[in-house]
Amino acid sequence: MSKRVDPGLLNELKQFGDVPIEACFNCGNCTAVCPLSTDETPFPRNNIRRIQVGLKEDILHSPDPWLCYYCGDCSATCPREAEPAEAQMTLRRWLTAQYDWTGLGRLFYTSPAWEVISVLITAVLVVLAFIVFHGPMVTGQVELNTFAPVDMIHLLDWVMAGLLSFFLLTNVARMHHFIIRKGTDAQVPLVLYITEAWQLAYNFVTQERFSKCDEKRPWINHLILVSGYVTMLVLILFLLPWFQTDNIYPFWHPQRWVGYYATIALIYGAGAALWGRFKKIRQMHRFSHLSDWLFPILLLIGAVTGILVHLFRYLGLPLATYTIYVIHLSMMVPMLVIEVPFGKWAHLAYRPLAIYFQRVKELAVEQQARKERLASSGA
Ligand code: SF4
Ligand code: SF4
Repeated sequence: MSKRVDPGLLNELKQFGDVPIEACFNCGNCTAVCPLSTDETPFPRNNIRRIQVGLKEDILHSPDPWLCYYCGDCSATCPREAEPAEAQMTLRRWLTAQYDWTGLGRLFYTSPAWEVISVLITAVLVVLAFIVFHGPMVTGQVELNTFAPVDMIHLLDWVMAGLLSFFLLTNVARMHHFIIRKGTDAQVPLVLYITEAWQLAYNFVTQERFSKCDEKRPWINHLILVSGYVTMLVLILFLLPWFQTDNIYPFWHPQRWVGYYATIALIYGAGAALWGRFKKIRQMHRFSHLSDWLFPILLLIGAVTGILVHLFRYLGLPLATYTIYVIHLSMMVPMLVIEVPFGKWAHLAYRPLAIYFQRVKELAVEQQARKERLASSGA
């Protein structure tokens, strides 16, 4: 079957990241040193070749760029300094934009101004909503649930979660279409999706592939960050009336410790990511796109303002509590609205999905080959 070649692919990718891969002379060293590459998925060299030749559809139909965890070994040993690790990162940004049907992913990744303006506009809208709709401001004591009734905030959380899930899931449907429907001729039976579904949950929680990189610290940091994020999400979506309360609980109360854990994990994880990028500690930190900064910055501000709300409430400072609460939400809402379906956060969903799709695709191909062998031996 003939393949369509897009000579403009490299230039298109350069809008998404710094990819000097014209320098690559295809020695294969990067794939040889990659701890995650296999005979079936010989990245990063295969992807670099695809970019050089312009095989856009091959990249779109492949999960390979998501199987790389950016340890940087390939870039560190590339004799031509073609930055194969950064090329995989760039492909992941490009793929995020390809999966996103709204076009916002492309806009945010290719225009730093639009990404920053969108965050600022969303933050201002949150502040304006509070100015117009906030409840009575009790100043004699802290009454956060009078200023921002918890039932109303909880309802808005669910409305936002529903909208974001809609955008994310429709993008996931497109990812499935590209990788499974277009990426293989084999029919994938429904039962395979069901029996392999555990892969999705397991890889989302553990990011096990990341642990196979030689250096374990980035995986541990990432794990801590994700655990804080997921804990905070559970608190906000399912336990908000228990979490946002005007009651002052004693120090040993689980409400305090769950909140402390989530906040400390977020501050540590986001802080480590930002410090690494600032100091360019590892190979993976040498190139930083705006989205690599913006997501952890919003997370960090969200976590710090969250702990300040808690502190001011315990110190009995009503106006400071209400003000910092509004600032807290004005950071958390854009972090979710901009980054979950269209930006950096999406990789948390796409990586385990890519592993899952890859697995069901491989099993479906094996099953089909077995059936064909049986049919031909019976003929
Ligand atoms: S990216 Fe570097 S290591 Fe990989 S094939 Fe090209 S020249 Fe060789
Ligand atoms: S960055 Fe690491 S995991 Fe990714 S392709 Fe290079 S060597 Fe492999």
